Amino acid sequence: MSLPWPRLPTVSSRNAFEHLFRCPACRGELANPYQGQLRCVLCHSSYGLVGRVPILICSDRSLFDPDEAVNQRDRTPTAVVGFRRAIPGLTNNYNAKRNFRRLGQLLREGAPDPVVLSIGGGEGGKGEDALDGIAILTTDVVLGPDTDALADAHDLPFADGAFDGVVIQAVLEHVLDPSICVAEVHRVLKPGGLVYAETPFMQQVHLGRYDFTRFTALGHRRLFRKFEAIDTGMSAGPGSALAWSLAHFLASFSRGPRMRKVLMALGKCMFFWLRLLDVPLKNNDAAYDAAAGFYFLGRRSEHTLADAELLATYRGGTDL
Ligand SMILES: [Zn+2]
Repeated sequence: MSLPWPRLPTVSSRNAFEHLFRCPACRGELANPYQGQLRCVLCHSSYGLVGRVPILICSDRSLFDPDEAVNQRDRTPTAVVGFRRAIPGLTNNYNAKRNFRRLGQLLREGAPDPVVLSIGGGEGGKGEDALDGIAILTTDVVLGPDTDALADAHDLPFADGAFDGVVIQAVLEHVLDPSICVAEVHRVLKPGGLVYAETPFMQQVHLGRYDFTRFTALGHRRLFRKFEAIDTGMSAGPGSALAWSLAHFLASFSRGPRMRKVLMALGKCMFFWLRLLDVPLKNNDAAYDAAAGFYFLGRRSEHTLADAELLATYRGGTDL
């Protein structure tokens, strides 16, 4: 069914994915009766637009304030961004590129023109460029260079079965209820649709107050229990976890945000090399008990993994 968007003013201001958007409150279709505003044809809720980007957040249900989301555009001076990029990172995400290539291959095998939803990917995810040539709709809670819609993962503004794939990379630790968000991922995927998730386990607080949860390997698998696993593993190992821990130990001595930034930069320069130790540990089962994070590549299923089956997937090194 084509959607009623009668007055979008010019072709260049149109959002390529507008036919996929729905009301985040009731999944009703969206009309565009006035320039700069969308209205749900069912519940009559209104949503603003920033340029071509719709703000599809329920202000009464979301932790994120739509106005704040728009105003949180990164205005850091270019010289500072360049300096930050020169500082080595603490994480060795050695599997991301390979996993995205595999996801891309499976997507192309499943549909001629697959469409992927990237949740929280407004700044561009690690390894996501391996999906080159595949249509990616990106949502986030702040405006980034790749954001196609502002949306909260608890209330995805899309119809059931809208996507062939969903990428949710380093997001589930930042949501209040990861189970609800994964249920939403399941809902917006077509039957047999693919999900790729990366979520931290041993990693310190990041993004300030918007950081709530961590997952062990089994906790992460249970979160996706309504998906058939294609591949699971460490997204970053114990070396990355140790580098993060030492840098944040150093930053714990700070007495203000500026000093914290200096100590974090110092910590990264001192300890980044520890991430290289993830390479010899990448096939070592004991490393699963101390990894920085895990990935899950899976397929939407109607079967739910039983908890007894879940326990059988444990591959760490700890004896009871
Ligand atoms: Zn509605």
